[in-house]
Amino acid sequence: MLRNVKVYKRPTDIEEAVALVQSNPNAVYIGGGAWTVAQGDPQLEMVVDLQAAGLNFIDSSVDGVRIGATVTLQAIIDHPDAGTLADGLLARAAGYTQSRNLREQGTLGGTLIVAGPADPLTTALLVLDSDIRYADPVVHTAPFASFVAYRDRLIKTRVLITEVHVKRPPARSAATFEVVGRSPKDKPIVCAAAYITVDEGLPAVIRLAVGGADAKPARLYKTEHLLKGQFLTREKVASALPVSLAELNPVGDFRGSAEYRMEMAKVLLQRAIWGAWEKGRRGA
Ligand SMILES: Cc1cc2nc3c(=O)[nH]c(=O)nc-3n(C[C@H](O)[C@H](O)[C@H](O)COP(=O)(O)OP(=O)(O)OC[C@H]3O[C@@H](n4cnc5c(N)ncnc54)[C@H](O)[C@@H]3O)c2cc1C
Repeated sequence: MLRNVKVYKRPTDIEEAVALVQSNPNAVYIGGGAWTVAQGDPQLEMVVDLQAAGLNFIDSSVDGVRIGATVTLQAIIDHPDAGTLADGLLARAAGYTQSRNLREQGTLGGTLIVAGPADPLTTALLVLDSDIRYADPVVHTAPFASFVAYRDRLIKTRVLITEVHVKRPPARSAATFEVVGRSPKDKPIVCAAAYITVDEGLPAVIRLAVGGADAKPARLYKTEHLLKGQFLTREKVASALPVSLAELNPVGDFRGSAEYRMEMAKVLLQRAIWGAWEKGRRGA
């Protein structure tokens, strides 16, 4: 329960939304409100509902897909373009983020703000060619990986996420998502995503990410660098992973020890890379 809330606002543009939240340290944005209501912060005085702020859109073009911040996770899955883009990577990841009823309520913006270390959607967006837009109230565009790196600082300055733009992958590109959880439908303990574009039989673009093996979902830049342009074999993939995995610091909990998480990261990344490589070569 939000017992101390005295003001409910429903702005119709992003400037007003940002001004309202930045005017009161005890004001917050709400997208779907699932997380905010469940937290029940007793200090909260004002909620700024984003549902009328013009951010509930999915726009497809030849370049890619723009997804507004108040689009629900289920709407991403159900959308004919956003749900199938990049071999359905976003839909797959959104499906692992929450149960069906929370997916109908939880929004893209709210999910990216509260994303935990194994967040599937953040992990998937890290391997896609994606940008995020946020307002403070001036609208900025940043590569999604920078947003993940600076997320805590941006949250402190109370920026408003407005949309995510995912570029359309070129031909002979493939994306995969691998996951281990307590059950096949459960939230990931560890997840891994791979994206490969094949050109002249070699991986011209390769992006890799893992969730649940560090404080945040992480890109594996050093491994990508080692594998780019190389004809991939299982041995090459296995030998290129340790250089990036050594930089991760998994934290164990009741769902998986640090050792288990590290081992699963290795297994899932190998599977994800191999799957994307084989699909990309077939021209998927
Ligand atoms: C009891 C409970 C606990 C949960 N705990 C977690 C958890 O720890 N980690 C997790 O990943 N999921 C958690 N969830 C799932 C959470 O409901 C989903 O992540 C959901 O998708 C959140 O989306 P929302 O739009 O409903 O969030 P909201 O509650 O609307 O927003 C979540 C946070 O994001 C901010 N926000 C929302 N939209 C924007 C925006 N456009 N720009 C900037 N800030 C914005 C809000 O101010 C708030 O701080 C929990 C759900 C429940 C019911």
